[in-house]
Amino acid sequence: MAIPTSPKERNLNATGVVAAAVVPAAGRGERLGPGAPKALRELGGVPLLVHAVRALARSRAVGLVVVAAPADGVAEVVALLDSHGLDGKDIRVVAGGATRQESVRLGLAAVPAEVEVVLVHDAARPLVPVDVVDAVAAAVRAGADAVVPGVPLADTVKRVRPQTGGGPEPVLDTPDRATLRAVQTPQGFRHTTLSEVHEKALAEEAGGTMPPVTDDAGLVEHFGGQVVVVPGHEEAFKVTRPIDLVLAEAVLARRRASDGF
Ligand code: C5P
Repeated sequence: MAIPTSPKERNLNATGVVAAAVVPAAGRGERLGPGAPKALRELGGVPLLVHAVRALARSRAVGLVVVAAPADGVAEVVALLDSHGLDGKDIRVVAGGATRQESVRLGLAAVPAEVEVVLVHDAARPLVPVDVVDAVAAAVRAGADAVVPGVPLADTVKRVRPQTGGGPEPVLDTPDRATLRAVQTPQGFRHTTLSEVHEKALAEEAGGTMPPVTDDAGLVEHFGGQVVVVPGHEEAFKVTRPIDLVLAEAVLARRRASDGF
């Protein structure tokens, strides 16, 4: 099921709007504890998904947002998005899949071929500043095939040999922290690049040769493409654990106090 195509879709290029955003929002969010699917959990009284879609819709580059909802929650998500004012952008909802990658692929299938730039943004990153969305879209429009926002790491990172059962994990090595970035979303791509790597990944998965890849840029890397990192933002963090919701509430309260956000 998808929200009917609006007339705006046919004008995406004519109006100079060349980016669409796909929002995978079909995860259960088990690490957040029991309750509604993560995208529907509330932050400041508004579902995470609505915050995330608003953050994308605020970017002038974005003309269309496709949400991949939990397969059993499409009607609920349509009603939810309808009940929040979303800047007059074209918003569609499709059923997501069993994995994040499948949800992105299903969302991507609803993006018209003539849209040149596609952003993929986690519903679980509700507070991404619009400047990050704009910067990622601009870097793709400037010629990059794949762009990810990233931030330096505060912690030292060690590679380990994971042990089942919680035993001590032997350290293999310590990558130089100065060369590491924690990457966020939205990740931006030339539409053709993203469609191609998702199709290839599907074929490799069927053949059982695809290694686990946790983001869309990782697919581009796997198939030999060049990905570049632009500055991300500390407020674009992913709401995964209960502590993240506490932090997100605090960031939102500060924004509301300072600028009536
Ligand atoms: O689980 P994780 O936090 O990595 O999920 C990242 C994003 O992918 C979330 O917005 C989640 O809703 C989405 N997702 C999805 N379909 C799945 C699993 C996760 O759309 N099957």
